[in-house]
Amino acid sequence: MKLVKLIANLGYGSRKDVALMFREGRITDPQGEVLYADDRVEHASIRIDGEPLDPPPGLALMLHKPVGYTCSTKDPGRIVYDLLPPRFRARSPLLSTVGRLDRDTSGLLLMTDDGALLHRIVSPKSHLPKVYEAELAEDLRGDEAATFASGTLMLESETTPLRPATLQVLAPNRARLILTEGRYHQVRRMFAATGNRVEKLHRAAIGGLGLDELAEGHWRALNAADLTRLW
Ligand code: URA
Repeated sequence: MKLVKLIANLGYGSRKDVALMFREGRITDPQGEVLYADDRVEHASIRIDGEPLDPPPGLALMLHKPVGYTCSTKDPGRIVYDLLPPRFRARSPLLSTVGRLDRDTSGLLLMTDDGALLHRIVSPKSHLPKVYEAELAEDLRGDEAATFASGTLMLESETTPLRPATLQVLAPNRARLILTEGRYHQVRRMFAATGNRVEKLHRAAIGGLGLDELAEGHWRALNAADLTRLW
């Protein structure tokens, strides 16, 4: 792909804007030598104003989503894209969230422009475990683990029962819940079905991938080792 198109697709501006950046000498190699639009150079060897070029298409990243941000681009309030470099919203192909977390849920959110990866994770056939930690309004009754594991729990307005889920008690009113599907507001609705209410909800992991030390509101690109944890 021509350099102008490559850089424009990463959200740095229109092709006209990027052509101007070349003419202004803002696009260089790592040694500061000015690059020209017709040059053939590796992605990793391109600098813009001295900074490495954003990751190429095929980007997958993890975000530690704080409470108060939505996954929608249409929400007039705070959205998860506000936590990324502004350019990322103008990338082509588009960077989408891999599934969604509610505004009031914190934790691990994946985003990618890789359609195949997105599909593999969100497909109803995927069954990739998602690990949630919930703080509840009331203490657990004691029968929730059996109810959730039964594979017979029906949520209101659903036509098929939930897949068996694993509940681990962390404290009288705190639990870890491991789901292998992703229905709308699933965790909140599951606890509501047992007469309880989720007060705080956090997603700790997807497959074998956790947030590690990533601070709330921060993101990082996934590497090859991370991707192997998403099977
Ligand atoms: N289940 C919920 O209820 N909310 C989320 O954000 C994720 C899973």
